[in-house]
Amino acid sequence: MFRSLAGVALTATVLCAGCTDTPAPPAANPSAAPSDAAPAVDYTAWSAGRSTPVADKLYPEHGNAGLDVLRYDLKLDWQPTTKQLSGTATLRIRPAAAAGAITLDFANLTVDKVTVDDRPATGTVAEEKLTVPAELVADRPVTLVVDYHGTPKQVKFPSHRSDAKEGLGLRPTATGGLWTMQEPWGAMTWYPANELVSDKALYDIKVTVPAGWAAVASGTPGPAEGEFSSSVPVAAYLTTLAVDRYTKVTQAGPHGVQLNYWVLPKADDKVLTSLKKSPQILTWLESMLGAYPFETGGALLNGSVSAMETQQMLSIGRSLAGKWSKDDQAYFEEVLVHEYAHQWFGDAVTPSTWTDLWLNEGFAQYLQFLWEQKVQKFSDADLERFLRKRDAELRKSVGPPGRPKAANFAESNVYICGAAMLKELNDALGDKKFFALMTAWVAEHRDTNQDRAAFIAFVQKNTGKDFSKLINTWLDSPKTPA
Ligand SMILES: [Zn+2]
Repeated sequence: MFRSLAGVALTATVLCAGCTDTPAPPAANPSAAPSDAAPAVDYTAWSAGRSTPVADKLYPEHGNAGLDVLRYDLKLDWQPTTKQLSGTATLRIRPAAAAGAITLDFANLTVDKVTVDDRPATGTVAEEKLTVPAELVADRPVTLVVDYHGTPKQVKFPSHRSDAKEGLGLRPTATGGLWTMQEPWGAMTWYPANELVSDKALYDIKVTVPAGWAAVASGTPGPAEGEFSSSVPVAAYLTTLAVDRYTKVTQAGPHGVQLNYWVLPKADDKVLTSLKKSPQILTWLESMLGAYPFETGGALLNGSVSAMETQQMLSIGRSLAGKWSKDDQAYFEEVLVHEYAHQWFGDAVTPSTWTDLWLNEGFAQYLQFLWEQKVQKFSDADLERFLRKRDAELRKSVGPPGRPKAANFAESNVYICGAAMLKELNDALGDKKFFALMTAWVAEHRDTNQDRAAFIAFVQKNTGKDFSKLINTWLDSPKTPA
Protein backbone atom coordinates (compact mmCIF):
# COMPACT_ATOMS: atom_id res chain seq x y z
CA MET A 1 0.00 0.00 0.00
CA PHE A 2 1.10 3.54 -0.54
CA ARG A 3 1.32 6.12 2.21
CA SER A 4 -0.05 9.45 1.12
CA LEU A 5 2.33 12.37 0.66
CA ALA A 6 2.21 13.96 4.09
CA GLY A 7 5.47 13.27 5.80
CA VAL A 8 6.36 10.20 3.79
CA ALA A 9 7.58 10.80 0.29
CA LEU A 10 11.05 12.17 0.01
CA THR A 11 9.92 14.79 -2.43
CA ALA A 12 12.00 17.12 -4.51
CA THR A 13 10.81 20.01 -2.37
CA VAL A 14 12.05 18.37 0.80
CA LEU A 15 15.43 17.69 -0.73
CA CYS A 16 15.90 21.08 -2.32
CA ALA A 17 15.35 22.51 1.11
CA GLY A 18 18.28 20.41 2.26
CA CYS A 19 16.20 17.85 4.11
CA THR A 20 15.23 20.38 6.69
CA ASP A 21 11.75 19.01 7.05
CA THR A 22 9.44 17.00 6.56
CA PRO A 23 4.89 -27.35 -0.70
CA ALA A 24 3.85 -30.57 0.09
CA PRO A 25 0.74 -31.98 -1.80
CA PRO A 26 -2.53 -31.86 0.11
CA ALA A 27 -3.57 -34.95 1.98
CA ALA A 28 -6.55 -35.57 -0.28
CA ASN A 29 -7.10 -39.23 -0.84
CA PRO A 30 -9.84 -40.91 -2.79
CA SER A 31 -10.94 -43.11 0.12
CA ALA A 32 -11.66 -39.94 2.07
CA ALA A 33 -14.27 -38.76 -0.40
CA PRO A 34 -16.71 -36.71 1.64
CA SER A 35 -19.92 -38.33 0.48
CA ASP A 36 -21.06 -41.23 -1.65
CA ALA A 37 -23.33 -38.83 -3.49
CA ALA A 38 -20.61 -36.29 -4.28
CA PRO A 39 -18.43 -36.91 -7.31
CA ALA A 40 -14.79 -37.48 -6.46
CA VAL A 41 -12.87 -34.24 -6.56
CA ASP A 42 -9.16 -34.22 -7.27
CA TYR A 43 -7.94 -31.65 -4.78
CA THR A 44 -4.32 -32.24 -5.80
CA ALA A 45 -5.10 -30.00 -8.79
CA TRP A 46 -4.95 -27.06 -6.35
CA SER A 47 -1.99 -28.18 -4.25
CA ALA A 48 -0.16 -24.96 -5.18
CA GLY A 49 -2.79 -23.18 -3.07
CA ARG A 50 -1.81 -25.04 0.06
CA SER A 51 -0.69 -22.81 2.97
CA THR A 52 0.10 -23.10 6.63
CA PRO A 53 -2.50 -20.80 8.22
CA VAL A 54 -1.20 -18.88 11.23
CA ALA A 55 -3.55 -17.17 13.69
CA ASP A 56 -2.97 -13.40 13.59
CA LYS A 57 -2.25 -12.02 17.06
CA LEU A 58 -2.81 -8.44 15.94
CA TYR A 59 -6.22 -9.11 14.36
CA PRO A 60 -7.57 -12.36 15.89
CA GLU A 61 -11.14 -11.47 14.86
CA HIS A 62 -10.27 -11.78 11.16
CA GLY A 63 -9.46 -14.99 9.33
CA ASN A 64 -9.64 -18.58 10.48
CA ALA A 65 -6.41 -20.47 11.12
CA GLY A 66 -8.42 -23.72 11.10
CA LEU A 67 -8.99 -23.40 7.35
CA ASP A 68 -6.65 -23.44 4.37
CA VAL A 69 -8.51 -22.33 1.25
CA LEU A 70 -6.76 -23.95 -1.72
CA ARG A 71 -8.70 -22.21 -4.46
CA TYR A 72 -11.45 -19.63 -4.92
CA ASP A 73 -13.60 -19.81 -8.05
CA LEU A 74 -15.67 -16.62 -8.23
CA LYS A 75 -18.41 -16.11 -10.81
CA LEU A 76 -19.68 -12.58 -10.44
CA ASP A 77 -22.20 -10.35 -12.19
CA TRP A 78 -22.46 -6.59 -11.74
CA GLN A 79 -25.44 -4.50 -12.78
CA PRO A 80 -24.52 -0.78 -12.76
CA THR A 81 -28.10 0.50 -12.87
CA THR A 82 -29.40 -1.49 -9.89
CA LYS A 83 -25.98 -1.67 -8.18
CA GLN A 84 -26.49 -5.38 -7.64
CA LEU A 85 -23.58 -7.75 -7.34
CA SER A 86 -24.48 -11.41 -7.61
CA GLY A 87 -21.99 -14.16 -7.13
CA THR A 88 -21.32 -17.84 -6.88
CA ALA A 89 -18.19 -18.60 -4.90
CA THR A 90 -16.78 -22.13 -5.02
CA LEU A 91 -14.12 -22.66 -2.38
CA ARG A 92 -11.89 -25.73 -2.27
CA ILE A 93 -10.94 -25.92 1.40
CA ARG A 94 -8.45 -28.04 3.31
CA PRO A 95 -9.45 -28.02 6.99
CA ALA A 96 -6.25 -27.52 8.97
CA ALA A 97 -8.06 -28.78 12.06
CA ALA A 98 -11.26 -30.65 12.89
CA ALA A 99 -14.26 -28.36 13.39
CA GLY A 100 -18.05 -28.33 13.43
CA ALA A 101 -18.43 -25.44 10.99
CA ILE A 102 -16.83 -23.57 8.11
CA THR A 103 -16.36 -19.98 9.28
CA LEU A 104 -15.23 -17.33 6.81
CA ASP A 105 -15.16 -13.53 6.66
CA PHE A 106 -18.17 -12.14 4.78
CA ALA A 107 -19.92 -8.81 5.13
CA ASN A 108 -22.88 -6.79 3.91
CA LEU A 109 -24.16 -9.27 1.30
CA THR A 110 -27.09 -11.71 1.42
CA VAL A 111 -26.62 -15.47 1.12
CA ASP A 112 -29.09 -17.21 -1.20
CA LYS A 113 -27.90 -20.81 -1.23
CA VAL A 114 -25.11 -22.89 0.28
CA THR A 115 -23.85 -26.40 -0.40
CA VAL A 116 -21.04 -28.40 1.17
CA ASP A 117 -19.85 -31.23 -1.07
CA ASP A 118 -23.00 -30.82 -3.17
CA ARG A 119 -25.33 -31.24 -0.19
CA PRO A 120 -27.62 -28.38 0.92
CA ALA A 121 -26.35 -26.51 3.95
CA THR A 122 -27.30 -23.42 5.91
CA GLY A 123 -25.25 -20.25 5.83
CA THR A 124 -25.67 -17.60 8.50
CA VAL A 125 -24.12 -14.14 8.15
CA ALA A 126 -23.54 -12.16 11.36
CA GLU A 127 -20.85 -9.75 12.54
CA GLU A 128 -18.85 -10.01 9.31
CA LYS A 129 -18.77 -13.82 9.44
CA LEU A 130 -20.39 -16.53 7.35
CA THR A 131 -20.96 -19.69 9.36
CA VAL A 132 -21.85 -22.98 7.66
CA PRO A 133 -22.26 -26.02 9.94
CA ALA A 134 -20.21 -28.93 8.55
CA GLU A 135 -18.26 -31.81 10.02
CA LEU A 136 -14.68 -30.97 9.15
CA VAL A 137 -11.89 -33.50 9.50
CA ALA A 138 -8.30 -32.24 9.42
CA ASP A 139 -6.75 -32.61 5.97
CA ARG A 140 -9.94 -33.99 4.38
CA PRO A 141 -10.79 -31.28 1.81
CA VAL A 142 -14.32 -30.03 1.23
CA THR A 143 -16.04 -27.95 -1.43
CA LEU A 144 -18.17 -25.02 -0.31
CA VAL A 145 -20.44 -23.27 -2.80
CA VAL A 146 -22.16 -20.01 -1.81
CA ASP A 147 -24.65 -18.09 -3.95
CA TYR A 148 -25.11 -14.49 -2.79
CA HIS A 149 -26.17 -11.01 -3.86
CA GLY A 150 -26.44 -7.42 -2.71
CA THR A 151 -24.98 -3.94 -2.96
CA PRO A 152 -21.40 -4.05 -1.68
CA LYS A 153 -20.46 -1.76 1.17
CA GLN A 154 -17.08 -1.18 2.74
CA VAL A 155 -16.04 -2.06 6.30
CA LYS A 156 -13.94 -0.12 8.84
CA PHE A 157 -10.23 0.53 8.40
CA PRO A 158 -8.26 0.26 11.72
CA SER A 159 -5.83 3.11 11.09
CA HIS A 160 -5.21 6.85 11.36
CA ARG A 161 -3.90 6.99 7.78
CA SER A 162 -5.35 9.78 5.68
CA ASP A 163 -7.06 7.19 3.45
CA ALA A 164 -8.60 5.32 6.42
CA LYS A 165 -11.80 7.30 6.07
CA GLU A 166 -12.40 5.58 2.72
CA GLY A 167 -12.98 2.32 4.57
CA LEU A 168 -12.02 -1.08 3.21
CA GLY A 169 -13.55 -3.22 0.52
CA LEU A 170 -15.68 -3.07 -2.58
CA ARG A 171 -17.94 -0.09 -3.16
CA PRO A 172 -20.11 1.15 -6.03
CA THR A 173 -19.27 4.51 -7.60
CA ALA A 174 -21.77 7.27 -8.37
CA THR A 175 -21.53 6.45 -12.08
CA GLY A 176 -22.18 2.72 -11.69
CA GLY A 177 -18.66 1.36 -11.44
CA LEU A 178 -16.96 -0.60 -8.68
CA TRP A 179 -13.58 -0.56 -6.97
CA THR A 180 -11.90 -1.91 -3.84
CA MET A 181 -8.95 -1.26 -1.57
CA GLN A 182 -8.67 -4.02 1.03
CA GLU A 183 -5.57 -4.17 3.15
CA PRO A 184 -5.54 -5.66 5.79
CA TRP A 185 -8.97 -7.03 4.83
CA GLY A 186 -12.05 -6.22 2.78
CA ALA A 187 -12.21 -9.12 0.31
CA MET A 188 -15.14 -10.20 2.50
CA THR A 189 -17.20 -7.37 0.97
CA TRP A 190 -17.30 -9.23 -2.37
CA TYR A 191 -16.77 -12.93 -1.61
CA PRO A 192 -16.61 -15.28 1.38
CA ALA A 193 -12.90 -15.17 2.24
CA ASN A 194 -10.41 -16.42 4.76
CA GLU A 195 -8.91 -13.02 5.53
CA LEU A 196 -5.75 -14.38 7.00
CA VAL A 197 -2.58 -13.05 5.41
CA SER A 198 -1.02 -16.53 5.75
CA ASP A 199 -3.77 -18.30 3.79
CA LYS A 200 -2.73 -17.72 0.18
CA ALA A 201 -4.85 -19.47 -2.44
CA LEU A 202 -5.34 -19.89 -6.18
CA TYR A 203 -8.07 -17.87 -7.90
CA ASP A 204 -10.33 -17.97 -10.92
CA ILE A 205 -12.45 -14.85 -11.26
CA LYS A 206 -15.08 -14.38 -13.97
CA VAL A 207 -17.11 -11.20 -14.03
CA THR A 208 -19.98 -10.35 -16.35
CA VAL A 209 -21.04 -6.74 -16.91
CA PRO A 210 -23.43 -5.07 -19.39
CA ALA A 211 -22.18 -3.93 -22.81
CA GLY A 212 -20.03 -0.80 -22.62
CA TRP A 213 -18.57 -1.77 -19.25
CA ALA A 214 -15.36 -3.67 -18.47
CA ALA A 215 -14.45 -5.71 -15.41
CA VAL A 216 -10.84 -6.09 -14.24
CA ALA A 217 -9.42 -8.31 -11.50
CA SER A 218 -6.11 -9.51 -10.13
CA GLY A 219 -4.36 -12.37 -11.91
CA THR A 220 -3.59 -13.29 -15.49
CA PRO A 221 -6.27 -12.06 -17.91
CA GLY A 222 -8.20 -14.28 -20.31
CA PRO A 223 -8.93 -16.25 -22.25
CA ALA A 224 -12.25 -14.35 -22.48
CA GLU A 225 -13.05 -10.76 -21.46
CA GLY A 226 -13.77 -10.51 -17.73
CA GLU A 227 -11.75 -13.63 -16.87
CA PHE A 228 -8.71 -13.59 -14.60
CA SER A 229 -6.84 -16.51 -13.06
CA SER A 230 -4.03 -16.84 -10.55
CA SER A 231 -2.12 -20.08 -10.90
CA VAL A 232 0.25 -19.01 -8.14
CA PRO A 233 -1.09 -18.31 -4.64
CA VAL A 234 -2.53 -14.92 -3.67
CA ALA A 235 -3.40 -13.55 -0.22
CA ALA A 236 -7.01 -12.28 -0.06
CA TYR A 237 -5.92 -8.67 0.59
CA LEU A 238 -3.99 -8.76 -2.72
CA THR A 239 -7.04 -9.50 -4.87
CA THR A 240 -8.76 -6.65 -6.65
CA LEU A 241 -11.88 -5.98 -8.68
CA ALA A 242 -12.91 -2.91 -10.63
CA VAL A 243 -15.70 -2.19 -13.08
CA ASP A 244 -15.83 0.94 -15.19
CA ARG A 245 -16.02 2.08 -18.80
CA TYR A 246 -12.37 1.11 -19.17
CA THR A 247 -10.15 0.92 -22.19
CA LYS A 248 -7.32 -1.59 -22.06
CA VAL A 249 -3.85 -0.53 -23.20
CA THR A 250 -1.28 -3.29 -23.59
CA GLN A 251 2.49 -2.98 -23.55
CA ALA A 252 5.40 -5.44 -23.51
CA GLY A 253 7.37 -5.39 -20.26
CA PRO A 254 10.88 -6.74 -19.68
CA HIS A 255 11.52 -10.10 -21.42
CA GLY A 256 8.01 -10.15 -22.84
CA VAL A 257 5.97 -9.85 -19.61
CA GLN A 258 2.58 -8.56 -20.78
CA LEU A 259 1.49 -5.34 -19.07
CA ASN A 260 -2.14 -4.23 -19.19
CA TYR A 261 -3.35 -0.79 -18.17
CA TRP A 262 -7.06 -0.27 -17.56
CA VAL A 263 -7.82 3.41 -17.94
CA LEU A 264 -10.70 5.75 -18.64
CA PRO A 265 -10.43 7.54 -21.97
CA LYS A 266 -9.69 11.26 -21.40
CA ALA A 267 -9.72 11.10 -17.56
CA ASP A 268 -6.59 8.92 -17.50
CA ASP A 269 -4.85 10.07 -20.69
CA LYS A 270 -2.20 11.98 -18.74
CA VAL A 271 -1.24 9.16 -16.39
CA LEU A 272 -0.90 6.78 -19.30
CA THR A 273 2.41 8.48 -20.13
CA SER A 274 3.69 7.45 -16.70
CA LEU A 275 2.12 3.99 -16.83
CA LYS A 276 4.06 3.45 -20.04
CA LYS A 277 7.26 3.87 -18.03
CA SER A 278 6.41 0.54 -16.34
CA PRO A 279 8.89 -1.46 -18.48
CA GLN A 280 11.66 0.98 -17.50
CA ILE A 281 10.67 0.81 -13.79
CA LEU A 282 10.45 -2.99 -13.83
CA THR A 283 13.80 -3.31 -15.60
CA TRP A 284 15.36 -1.10 -12.94
CA LEU A 285 13.78 -3.19 -10.15
CA GLU A 286 14.89 -6.42 -11.84
CA SER A 287 18.49 -5.17 -11.87
CA MET A 288 18.38 -5.29 -8.06
CA LEU A 289 15.78 -7.93 -7.22
CA GLY A 290 15.91 -10.52 -9.99
CA ALA A 291 13.16 -11.33 -12.48
CA TYR A 292 9.66 -9.90 -12.03
CA PRO A 293 7.92 -12.74 -10.19
CA PHE A 294 4.67 -13.08 -12.21
CA GLU A 295 3.62 -13.81 -15.79
CA THR A 296 1.71 -10.55 -16.33
CA GLY A 297 1.45 -7.14 -14.71
CA GLY A 298 -0.07 -3.72 -15.11
CA ALA A 299 -2.39 -1.33 -13.34
CA LEU A 300 -6.01 -0.25 -13.13
CA LEU A 301 -7.03 3.28 -12.22
CA ASN A 302 -9.81 3.75 -9.68
CA GLY A 303 -11.50 6.35 -7.46
CA SER A 304 -9.34 5.88 -4.34
CA VAL A 305 -6.93 8.40 -2.84
CA SER A 306 -4.47 5.56 -2.27
CA ALA A 307 -2.73 2.80 -4.23
CA MET A 308 -2.38 -0.93 -3.68
CA GLU A 309 0.03 -3.62 -4.83
CA THR A 310 -2.76 -6.02 -5.85
CA GLN A 311 -1.15 -9.07 -7.44
CA GLN A 312 -0.35 -8.82 -11.15
CA MET A 313 -2.64 -5.76 -11.39
CA LEU A 314 -1.90 -2.67 -9.31
CA SER A 315 -4.92 -0.69 -8.08
CA ILE A 316 -4.13 3.02 -8.26
CA GLY A 317 -6.29 5.95 -7.26
CA ARG A 318 -6.35 8.48 -10.09
CA SER A 319 -6.40 11.35 -7.59
CA LEU A 320 -2.72 10.56 -6.92
CA ALA A 321 -2.07 12.23 -10.29
CA GLY A 322 -3.00 15.58 -8.72
CA LYS A 323 -3.05 18.39 -11.26
CA TRP A 324 -0.29 16.62 -13.19
CA SER A 325 2.38 19.22 -12.52
CA LYS A 326 5.96 18.04 -13.01
CA ASP A 327 6.12 17.17 -9.30
CA ASP A 328 2.76 15.36 -9.47
CA GLN A 329 4.06 13.26 -12.34
CA ALA A 330 7.28 12.41 -10.46
CA TYR A 331 5.17 11.49 -7.42
CA PHE A 332 2.87 9.27 -9.49
CA GLU A 333 5.92 7.43 -10.83
CA GLU A 334 7.19 6.93 -7.26
CA VAL A 335 3.83 5.32 -6.49
CA LEU A 336 4.35 2.97 -9.43
CA VAL A 337 7.86 2.06 -8.24
CA HIS A 338 6.52 1.41 -4.73
CA GLU A 339 3.64 -0.82 -5.86
CA TYR A 340 5.71 -2.70 -8.43
CA ALA A 341 8.41 -3.33 -5.77
CA HIS A 342 5.68 -4.94 -3.68
CA GLN A 343 5.22 -7.62 -6.37
CA TRP A 344 8.50 -9.02 -4.99
CA PHE A 345 8.02 -7.94 -1.36
CA GLY A 346 4.46 -8.58 -0.19
CA ASP A 347 3.01 -10.46 -3.14
CA ALA A 348 5.58 -13.13 -4.10
CA VAL A 349 6.84 -13.28 -0.50
CA THR A 350 4.09 -12.43 1.99
CA PRO A 351 4.34 -11.94 5.76
CA SER A 352 2.89 -14.74 7.92
CA THR A 353 1.13 -12.23 10.15
CA TRP A 354 0.41 -8.48 10.07
CA THR A 355 2.99 -7.92 12.82
CA ASP A 356 5.62 -8.27 10.09
CA LEU A 357 4.12 -5.71 7.71
CA TRP A 358 7.60 -4.10 7.67
CA LEU A 359 8.60 -7.07 5.45
CA ASN A 360 6.32 -5.47 2.83
CA GLU A 361 6.46 -1.76 3.44
CA GLY A 362 10.07 -1.39 4.60
CA PHE A 363 11.29 -2.94 1.35
CA ALA A 364 8.85 -1.16 -1.00
CA GLN A 365 9.62 2.15 0.69
CA TYR A 366 13.37 1.60 0.55
CA LEU A 367 13.22 0.86 -3.17
CA GLN A 368 11.02 3.91 -3.65
CA PHE A 369 13.65 6.02 -1.88
CA LEU A 370 16.40 4.57 -4.07
CA TRP A 371 14.35 5.51 -7.15
CA GLU A 372 13.87 9.03 -5.82
CA GLN A 373 17.60 9.22 -5.14
CA LYS A 374 18.34 8.14 -8.71
CA VAL A 375 15.83 10.53 -10.32
CA GLN A 376 16.46 13.54 -8.11
CA LYS A 377 20.20 12.91 -7.77
CA PHE A 378 20.47 13.55 -4.05
CA SER A 379 23.29 12.18 -1.96
CA ASP A 380 23.44 9.18 0.30
CA ALA A 381 24.05 11.52 3.23
CA ASP A 382 20.80 13.38 2.40
CA LEU A 383 18.89 10.11 2.44
CA GLU A 384 20.52 9.06 5.71
CA ARG A 385 19.71 12.41 7.35
CA PHE A 386 16.12 12.33 6.15
CA LEU A 387 15.57 8.74 7.30
CA ARG A 388 17.02 9.31 10.76
CA LYS A 389 14.98 12.46 11.33
CA ARG A 390 11.69 10.87 10.27
CA ASP A 391 12.57 7.63 12.03
CA ALA A 392 13.02 9.45 15.35
CA GLU A 393 9.72 11.32 14.96
CA LEU A 394 7.78 8.19 14.03
CA ARG A 395 9.14 5.96 16.79
CA LYS A 396 8.01 8.65 19.20
CA SER A 397 4.55 9.17 17.69
CA VAL A 398 3.58 5.65 16.53
CA GLY A 399 6.21 3.32 18.02
CA PRO A 400 8.84 0.99 16.53
CA PRO A 401 8.04 -0.76 13.22
CA GLY A 402 8.33 -4.32 14.53
CA ARG A 403 5.67 -3.78 17.17
CA PRO A 404 2.69 -2.27 15.37
CA LYS A 405 -0.53 -1.65 17.25
CA ALA A 406 -3.87 -2.99 16.06
CA ALA A 407 -5.43 0.49 15.79
CA ASN A 408 -2.49 1.84 13.72
CA PHE A 409 -2.48 -0.40 10.67
CA ALA A 410 0.16 0.52 8.07
CA GLU A 411 1.08 3.84 9.58
CA SER A 412 4.32 5.55 8.55
CA ASN A 413 6.59 3.82 11.09
CA VAL A 414 6.45 0.46 9.27
CA TYR A 415 7.44 2.23 6.05
CA ILE A 416 10.12 4.71 7.05
CA CYS A 417 11.64 2.93 10.05
CA GLY A 418 11.63 -0.36 8.10
CA ALA A 419 13.41 1.39 5.22
CA ALA A 420 15.90 2.92 7.68
CA MET A 421 16.77 -0.58 8.94
CA LEU A 422 17.32 -1.79 5.38
CA LYS A 423 19.58 1.19 4.66
CA GLU A 424 21.73 0.17 7.65
CA LEU A 425 21.90 -3.39 6.33
CA ASN A 426 22.70 -2.09 2.83
CA ASP A 427 25.48 0.12 4.23
CA ALA A 428 26.92 -2.77 6.25
CA LEU A 429 26.94 -5.20 3.30
CA GLY A 430 27.58 -2.92 0.32
CA ASP A 431 25.32 -2.86 -2.75
CA LYS A 432 26.53 -6.04 -4.39
CA LYS A 433 25.99 -8.31 -1.39
CA PHE A 434 22.83 -6.51 -0.25
CA PHE A 435 20.99 -6.84 -3.56
CA ALA A 436 22.20 -10.42 -4.03
CA LEU A 437 20.62 -11.06 -0.63
CA MET A 438 17.34 -9.37 -1.65
CA THR A 439 17.24 -11.34 -4.92
CA ALA A 440 17.87 -14.63 -3.13
CA TRP A 441 15.29 -13.87 -0.43
CA VAL A 442 12.56 -13.60 -3.04
CA ALA A 443 13.84 -16.38 -5.32
CA GLU A 444 14.02 -18.86 -2.44
CA HIS A 445 10.71 -17.89 -0.80
CA ARG A 446 8.41 -16.90 -3.64
CA ASP A 447 4.77 -17.99 -3.26
CA THR A 448 5.22 -18.47 0.50
CA ASN A 449 4.66 -16.59 3.78
CA GLN A 450 7.63 -15.61 5.94
CA ASP A 451 8.37 -13.88 9.24
CA ARG A 452 11.08 -11.98 11.12
CA ALA A 453 12.84 -15.10 12.43
CA ALA A 454 13.06 -16.51 8.90
CA PHE A 455 14.49 -13.22 7.57
CA ILE A 456 17.13 -13.00 10.31
CA ALA A 457 18.14 -16.64 9.79
CA PHE A 458 18.29 -16.10 6.02
CA VAL A 459 20.54 -13.05 6.36
CA GLN A 460 22.89 -14.98 8.62
CA LYS A 461 22.99 -18.03 6.34
CA ASN A 462 23.68 -15.94 3.24
CA THR A 463 26.16 -13.44 4.63
CA GLY A 464 27.89 -15.67 7.20
CA LYS A 465 27.39 -12.82 9.67
CA ASP A 466 24.96 -12.42 12.55
CA PHE A 467 22.83 -9.32 11.91
CA SER A 468 20.17 -10.26 14.47
CA LYS A 469 21.12 -7.41 16.82
CA LEU A 470 21.00 -4.79 14.06
CA ILE A 471 17.66 -6.03 12.71
CA ASN A 472 15.96 -6.56 16.08
CA THR A 473 17.15 -3.22 17.45
CA TRP A 474 15.85 -1.32 14.41
CA LEU A 475 12.54 -3.20 14.59
CA ASP A 476 11.95 -2.93 18.33
CA SER A 477 13.74 0.07 19.75
CA PRO A 478 11.56 2.97 21.00
CA LYS A 479 14.34 5.35 19.85
CA THR A 480 16.39 5.54 16.64
CA PRO A 481 19.41 3.24 17.12
CA ALA A 482 22.80 4.99 17.26
ZN1 LIG B 1 3.35 -0.23 0.27
